[in-house]
Amino acid sequence: MIELRSDTFTLPTEEMIRAMSQAKLGDDVYKEDPTVNRLEELSAEMLGKEDACFLPSGTMANLTSLLTHCPRGTKVLVGNETDIYIYEAGGASVCGGVIYEPIATQPDGKLLLEDLEAAFPVDPEDPQFSLPSLICLENTHNRCGGRVLPLDYLREVQQFAYQKSLPVHMDGARVFHAAVALQRPVSEITAYADSIQFCLSKGLSSPVGSMVAGTKSFIEGVRRWRKLLGGGMRQAGVIAAAGIVSLTHMVDRLAEDHHHAQQFAIGLKDISGIAVDLNQVETNIVFFKITDERFTWESFIEAMRAENVLLAELGHGRIRAVFHRGVSSSDVDQALAKIDKVMKQGPL
Ligand SMILES: *Cc1c(COP(=O)(O)O)cnc(C)c1O
Repeated sequence: MIELRSDTFTLPTEEMIRAMSQAKLGDDVYKEDPTVNRLEELSAEMLGKEDACFLPSGTMANLTSLLTHCPRGTKVLVGNETDIYIYEAGGASVCGGVIYEPIATQPDGKLLLEDLEAAFPVDPEDPQFSLPSLICLENTHNRCGGRVLPLDYLREVQQFAYQKSLPVHMDGARVFHAAVALQRPVSEITAYADSIQFCLSKGLSSPVGSMVAGTKSFIEGVRRWRKLLGGGMRQAGVIAAAGIVSLTHMVDRLAEDHHHAQQFAIGLKDISGIAVDLNQVETNIVFFKITDERFTWESFIEAMRAENVLLAELGHGRIRAVFHRGVSSSDVDQALAKIDKVMKQGPL
């Protein structure tokens, strides 16, 4: 099977399994798991923040961040194509009485400042209006094809947020992909956000876990919400050990996944019945559409599954292919050959 549905399918490396079996452990709810403590320190250091907190998932990392930033009855300004808005079960509304204000997402993942501005009430003193309390950005932007938000843009949003006295939260599930694509240390990106979450469990290959980083007092808030949500984990060093390997050994190799995404997109361009925009491919994600009218996206995915290539639809009938440690350059060639074959054959 060639697994292109997601980078969440990556399995832990041998080195991770060794680190997990040898990890020094303690009760993390007492803050006495040395391996979790090390992962949190290392994350804070790499992201240039005061502190960090280990969480079981990106969803809980975003949720605890939103709950810490946003008082009840306020609005979080969030892109209408983001994971937070689409895929996280409305958690901040359920748990925190927070309104999600969906902002139009540009094709490159940006939210326009004028659209953010329009979410502010003309008269903030008028008690009729819910007030914005947070701006969220996603970087890289998954549903925009893994696009990287430019540093200039991040600076503009930071300045805008500062004028409005609002914090910025970055859903950086794949922020290390952004750093590798820009060839900059990740801290140059995260400097533009007050809080960041990133996933250890995607391209970085850990089996479980996400980190949130921010100020000390913000992270205290995250820890309280994590406990309330049932995410206080005891000997979590067992999984944190893999996270340390992710941060120390798995970041630089993401460039390989980006090359494979390029190789795949370039190959796709030559297959008739498929539309792909090479300019949109910046990291490890490739979106394409089936233009051959014999196929629906469902029948295409089904035909590819029969050829042992796994793909998924990710909104608006687009097919997403995600490149990760489990996909080699020869897998890319094979997947392209299978797609070519399926397009010649037609649906099953
Ligand atoms: C995967 C993902 C998340 C959620 O992470 P989980 O660990 O699956 O809960 C959040 N944001 C983005 C952009 C993601 O890709």
